[in-house]
Amino acid sequence: MGGVMSGVGKGVAASSIARLLKDSGHKVTAFKIDPYVNVDAGTMNPTEHGEVFVLPDGTECDQDMGNYERFLDRDLSGENYMTTGSIYRDVIEEERSLKYKGKCVEVIPHIPLAIIKKINHALDVEDADIGVIEIGGTVGEYQGFIFSEAARMLRQKKRGDVALVLVSYLPLLNKDNELKTKPTQYAVRTLNSGGLQPDIILARSALSLDKKRQEKIAFNCNMEKESIIAAPDVSNIYEIPINFKKAGLDSLLLKKLGLRVKKDTFSVWEKFVKKSQKAQKEVRVGVVGKYFSSGSFVLADSYVSVIEALKHAGFHLGARVKLEWLNAADFDPTEVGKEKARKNLSVLSGYDGIIVPGGFGTRSIEGKIAAIEYVRKKKIPFLGLCYGMQLAVVEFARHVLSFSDAHTTEVNENTSHPFVDILPEQKDVVSKERYGGTMRLGVYPAVVKKGTHAYQAYRSAERFHIPFVNRREYSKKDDLVISERHRHRYEINPEYLDLLEQKGLVISGLSPSGRLAEIIELPPKVHPFFVATQFHPELTSRPLSPHPLFVSFIKKVLS
Ligand code: GLN
Repeated sequence: MGGVMSGVGKGVAASSIARLLKDSGHKVTAFKIDPYVNVDAGTMNPTEHGEVFVLPDGTECDQDMGNYERFLDRDLSGENYMTTGSIYRDVIEEERSLKYKGKCVEVIPHIPLAIIKKINHALDVEDADIGVIEIGGTVGEYQGFIFSEAARMLRQKKRGDVALVLVSYLPLLNKDNELKTKPTQYAVRTLNSGGLQPDIILARSALSLDKKRQEKIAFNCNMEKESIIAAPDVSNIYEIPINFKKAGLDSLLLKKLGLRVKKDTFSVWEKFVKKSQKAQKEVRVGVVGKYFSSGSFVLADSYVSVIEALKHAGFHLGARVKLEWLNAADFDPTEVGKEKARKNLSVLSGYDGIIVPGGFGTRSIEGKIAAIEYVRKKKIPFLGLCYGMQLAVVEFARHVLSFSDAHTTEVNENTSHPFVDILPEQKDVVSKERYGGTMRLGVYPAVVKKGTHAYQAYRSAERFHIPFVNRREYSKKDDLVISERHRHRYEINPEYLDLLEQKGLVISGLSPSGRLAEIIELPPKVHPFFVATQFHPELTSRPLSPHPLFVSFIKKVLS
């Protein structure tokens, strides 16, 4: 649970704990509980709530699920995510089908009991030894009460098997001042009033916690001082498990849970962190997006998986990727005027590579298209993600195929050349305003064509390979079949695929039906690296196993 305030890295702390416990030889899974009434994160604006992460089964969830997958180096499922909305929905559905057998259904105890049932179910399905459960929000918030009550009940039922870690924050008013412990003391009292006592406090702060402050928290919160653990800011989040281990957090937790180290496998993580610390060569990558706020925190939160995927690929190749945000509006002639947009575009030549990430809607789209045209012509390495791929096709249709009004119907419904159009099955969904959880979501297969950038990248990335079922005419015997995660309502209009190919665009990934373009690229003799995907490769990049397309992109960026 989190105390004092949100946004202090509770998800990363929980992920680090999960990693440490996994590396003590236990089977670990992780849960995120969001206090929102939204049934899932799919309907939330990323600039408000952060990136919408997508799990293999199509669950649209909080970005912390991405942290869990990255730190645990495994896939998770929708069973591991819940919100206030989804829990209430489950309870109401059960009530409607008489599962409560005529009882009066009440917030307490029925909602917390449903939360516990869901957690136990997920643990059983996976046969997990340990579940790390992160409760979103901050201790004491009215809307979080059902979750702290669930924590209390869980503890009461499974005495000795549950440990409570409070991720708190110690403010520092100015550099010469001391870290303040009072807000943490109040957070613990609030927990106490709900019948909970933390076993461990992770003291997040700008500086490391000193002995005096550690003793003060321990004394005032009825705890042992070893249970108050320093968690100062770090520049590399992947060092956090190492810092926690040094502070003895894993042994402390195992002791509280009555468990032992079965097998210590932490050296793999340590080796990765050492390698990341050695990464020297710096490369500059620009991300062209539409930004509502220029606050770098907002941006970092909305694109967290892209940022991490770039870091993983960089570390793997011994490089530090310096990421910069480029506002698509600056390149949009309709927003800043033709002359200024053209002038602004020249900044792009200062980058070693450019990414156009996913997105929705109509704003600044001409700016993104102009940026893609620029990097295509100037042969700057380019990686397009989802909307980034759709707009790369629009750009190609306009400037190579000379259909000047080519567009996506997401922006212009009346274009005479709809190179990107709504997926047929989405028409009905949108007309009925059934927006929640209805996009093309989760994993789908793609057949990757031999002799392409994509093939080269995926060839040895076995974790993406899936058996070749239902081989059809269009695919060659030595094509690869891969699986990737999606989140979109539009697609490259299949009617134009042949024309695009005739004019030199390589469709290097296709759905097994041969209908839906999954990866496009330009041949190496035309452009050093121009690759874009309908799916989101950033979601499946892991520190210990970087995504092959990001690795290929950074390789070209470095060369
Ligand atoms: N807006 C586009 C679509 O719905 C792209 C979505 C995305 O980038 N995730 O298809």
